[in-house]
Amino acid sequence: MTAKQVDANNHDQISQLGGRVLDGGHISRVEALWLINLESSGDILDLLSWANRIREKFKGNKIHLCSIVNAKAGACSENCSFCSQSAHYQTGAPKYGFVDPEPVAEAGQEAKNNSVTAVGLVAAWKGLNEGPMLDEVCARVREMKAAGNTRPDVSLGLIKSQTVADRLKEAGVECYGHNLESSRNFFPQTCTTHTFDDRLETIGHLKKAGIKICSGGIIGMGETREDRCDLAFELKAIGANVVPVNILNPIPGTPFAKLAPLPVLEILKTIACFRFILPRQEIMIAGGRTVNLRDTQSMIFMAGASALMVGNYLTTLNQPVEKDLQMLKDLGLDPNWDSHDFSDQEQTGCGCGRGNCETEIAVEKDAQSLCHAAQLTT
Ligand code: SF4
Repeated sequence: MTAKQVDANNHDQISQLGGRVLDGGHISRVEALWLINLESSGDILDLLSWANRIREKFKGNKIHLCSIVNAKAGACSENCSFCSQSAHYQTGAPKYGFVDPEPVAEAGQEAKNNSVTAVGLVAAWKGLNEGPMLDEVCARVREMKAAGNTRPDVSLGLIKSQTVADRLKEAGVECYGHNLESSRNFFPQTCTTHTFDDRLETIGHLKKAGIKICSGGIIGMGETREDRCDLAFELKAIGANVVPVNILNPIPGTPFAKLAPLPVLEILKTIACFRFILPRQEIMIAGGRTVNLRDTQSMIFMAGASALMVGNYLTTLNQPVEKDLQMLKDLGLDPNWDSHDFSDQEQTGCGCGRGNCETEIAVEKDAQSLCHAAQLTT
């Protein structure tokens, strides 16, 4: 990454793409690759300023806050190379069975006190099947719902049956966390005990049950910039509502322990490209934020982030939530949502930018070719 002035040609191209997204349009994969390959700090900061405008246009000053409870820790059968909870690696991470009601109730109350919209129960296991464990999970969700403190979210691994997804919905789950982790191309280098398609199948069941999707990935695992763009387009294709961007925090004992950290500007540029590709989604900066971004954390909002994971992560520490709330206040950002039902993510038309466009939304490359208004002007 080199520090030099903003290139005038690059400035024009970034402005053109940014303006199109602001008008409700889309960028193509080729255009996204061009953005993510910008190298100079001047161009990257130029990109960030457009990502900030896009965030402001679609999100105003609202920031969606989430926190998580490690509802079942360690001894996971899967071999995800970044994860301290896999039984395949010696990491010293805690191990315990499914969580009792009390810690979940405490987390819900604490979250409410801190303006946190949702608390997610996260379990370290391969997936959830029908049986007593599903009953227990549903009981915890019902308790959270009855307490009324926050939205009860869950992240419970692979789901192979529609019945499980339907039961979760019935219990009160509104949003399910299930990351794609990386591009289809790179995924086999992160895990070999299940596949990218297993993850897509799970998301299919959840969507059919009417559950919103929280799905993103991890950057800094050795993937290319192209992989990062492909992940963002996959997330657009599946209609993810919340997109967590985790930045690898290399855990001693895991296969990714020795990977070099991504440069800060590379991380911010990636967030900005996600905002260009996913203008209406919640882009949530999650694990690895503090350790990788250090004093530049507040720049994630200028890069287009509209959501933040607060409180501690599953097995690593975050900065205190009070510090995050102060950061938002200092930036004029507001974490308070009366209710976040994701209606702000709805879009009519093909993305040509015309408010009266009636072309059905499609994420295929040539969606706009179906648009009558776009044909008239191209
Ligand atoms: S990421 Fe999830 S599925 Fe993979 S090893 Fe960790 S807990 Fe298991």
